[in-house]
Amino acid sequence: MAEKKASDFRYNTGETKVPWAAVGENYNAEDLMAVVRFLMKGQGAAYEAALKDVEKSVCALDQVAEPPAKLSLDVEVARAEALCDQYLHTAGSTFVTNCTAGFEIACKYTGLRPGDEVIVPAITFAATMAYPLSIGCKLVFADVDPVTLNIDPADVARKVTDRTKMIVPVHIGGYPVDMDPIMQLARERDIVVLEDAAHGFGGEYKGKKLGTIGDFGAFSFHEVKNITSFGEGGIVCTNVEAFRGEMKRARFLGTDFSRQIKDWLYDVTLIQGKGDTKFVATNFSTTEIQGLGLQLQIARIEQIIEARRQAAAYLNSRLAGCGALTTQDLGGEGCRPTFHLYRLLVDPEKAGADVQVLKKKLAAKGVTEIAHFGPLYRFQVLKDLGYDEDAIAASCPNCEEVFYRRFTHFPIYGLSQEQLDYMADAILESIDEMQKGI
Ligand SMILES: *Cc1c(COP(=O)(O)O)cnc(C)c1O
Repeated sequence: MAEKKASDFRYNTGETKVPWAAVGENYNAEDLMAVVRFLMKGQGAAYEAALKDVEKSVCALDQVAEPPAKLSLDVEVARAEALCDQYLHTAGSTFVTNCTAGFEIACKYTGLRPGDEVIVPAITFAATMAYPLSIGCKLVFADVDPVTLNIDPADVARKVTDRTKMIVPVHIGGYPVDMDPIMQLARERDIVVLEDAAHGFGGEYKGKKLGTIGDFGAFSFHEVKNITSFGEGGIVCTNVEAFRGEMKRARFLGTDFSRQIKDWLYDVTLIQGKGDTKFVATNFSTTEIQGLGLQLQIARIEQIIEARRQAAAYLNSRLAGCGALTTQDLGGEGCRPTFHLYRLLVDPEKAGADVQVLKKKLAAKGVTEIAHFGPLYRFQVLKDLGYDEDAIAASCPNCEEVFYRRFTHFPIYGLSQEQLDYMADAILESIDEMQKGI
């Protein structure tokens, strides 16, 4: 018999003549085959034959197997969290629906209110700003470092005010932000630091894992990140010891399944945030399947980062002779990027044209252009909310120069040697053409 856990509200009715056996429907052999066909697509005779074999085995298995006791928030989620804690050297990491949900928990802890200021980098993904914006906080955009594209700590220091409640450094492309000056400033002014480590799982800054340096860190396991938990997922962790015990309750409506829920009427309580703030939790629960998926991929994160590093190092070696290019920094002592993206900077003076020309040439040569992380302050949602994009742009000169004239990036994981060479050749040829004015 499958184990039925006493802590599960679906089953804890004890020994009765009429048990409340299950509320939801289980899955069957047919459903599992649909999942197999979804994860392993194909066509042709060999594929159909292999599928038939699997189907026969799955039907045989169905005769002798039991369904899992739980599909949501149970042992697999807990194991994924334990693996994260082991890998990150953290405690109390909490697996949530996605990275953005992790940000929300950190923001609620902070007690953010309408009008509070939150400093974010000028270049990042919309998810970084979504929750503070949704509750009426004022976003303040810090300029970026012209080489790493990461938030510039000196500009954060210039833009901090008495209303700044939170700073959100983003390890863009998995390259470590210079965290020390940001942490020092935040400590002096009692500001919460939330690391957007969506690209940063496994990276290191001064020997510390990215996402574990600030008060909070959140990682993304969306399908486009370095590892995934079946398409969506996030881990949030904290250095705020007083809040660590509240993380699981903050994930699920103010209750914690690792403790016995005695009475729903009284056990759902407010969550204790920063100082004397308290908040109501909503629901960011993850499934056991996601928990399993995350464990499987964490097991190979080191190999993945190493393969990415090697691809980046190879591209660097191919592009090294070209004076018009600045290639991806590979890190060094204590500094370890995750190589989520391969960053390339063009010097428009030496190349004879800017990066817009390079991008067009590369696209024409069949090197895919992927969407770029752009200036956040240009997003329509901010215009709709009355932000003055030109004034903000004027306060972020590096962002404007780098984004429009110098910077591009490439995905490098899973490319063959031939494809890497094709890419390097195409880049070098394009620069050569640009220099000759072709
Ligand atoms: C993907 C991404 C996020 C959001 O992650 P989700 O898991 O999709 O919520 C946040 N920040 C950056 C920089 C990202 O690229």
